[in-house]
Amino acid sequence: MIQQQTIKQNSRGKIFVVSAPSGAGKSTLCTKIIARFPDLAYSVSHTTRLPRDGEKDGVDYFFITVEEFKDRIKKKLWAEWAEVHGNFYGTSLKFIEDKIAQGKHLLLDIDVQGAKQFKRSFPEAVTIFIMPPSIVTLEQRLKKRATDSDEVITKRIANAQGEIAQSSFYDHIVVNDDLERASSQMLNIINSEIADK
Ligand code: 5GP
Repeated sequence: MIQQQTIKQNSRGKIFVVSAPSGAGKSTLCTKIIARFPDLAYSVSHTTRLPRDGEKDGVDYFFITVEEFKDRIKKKLWAEWAEVHGNFYGTSLKFIEDKIAQGKHLLLDIDVQGAKQFKRSFPEAVTIFIMPPSIVTLEQRLKKRATDSDEVITKRIANAQGEIAQSSFYDHIVVNDDLERASSQMLNIINSEIADK
C-alpha cells in the first residue's frame, strides 16, 4: 500500500516556476530549456494585454478580455493571477492539475507576486529567479528590444528593482550574464530535480 502510494505520488510531474524582470533574457532562456526537455511543457498563461507583433493566441498567451478574466477570478479558476504593468495575467488551475496528474513536467513563466501565490498552492514547485547582470544592462536590453515606449521602459525598470529585492524568496537564482552559462545552470537545476523524482 505504502509502496503504491509512493509510486503514484512520484509519477506526478514537477513544476518549475521562473520569474525575471522583463529584459533579463527569460524568454530566450526558457525557449532553450524547453527545446532540451521533450517532457517539459510550457504553461501558456492568459492575459488581458494586446498581442505584440508575431504573438499567437494559444501559443504565447491566451488573449482574453478583462470581463472574462474577472469572471474567472470569481469562479476561482486561477492557480494564481496578478496585475503586471497594468494588465492581468493568470495561470489556469485546471491546466496545471491535469498536466501534473499526467506526469508532465511544467515550466511557468510568471511574475514575483504570482510565484508567491503559486507556491502557497503548490509548495513542491521549484522556483527559479533569472537575475540580470545589472540594472544598466537591463535598461540597455529593453531599449535595444524596441518593443516598448520610453514610459513603459521606465515603469519596467522600476518594477525590476522591486522584483530583484524579492529574489531571496526563490529556491534558485540564475544570473544571466552569459546565455550559455545561464542555460547550462538552469539545465542542471531541472535535471537534478527531475532525477530526484
Ligand atoms: P509580458 O507582457 O512581457 O509578456 O509579461 C509581463 C510579465 O508578466 C512577465 O514578468 C511575466 O513573467 C508575467 N506573466 C506572464 N504570465 C503570467 C501569469 O500567468 N501569471 C503571472 N502572475 N505573471 C505572468
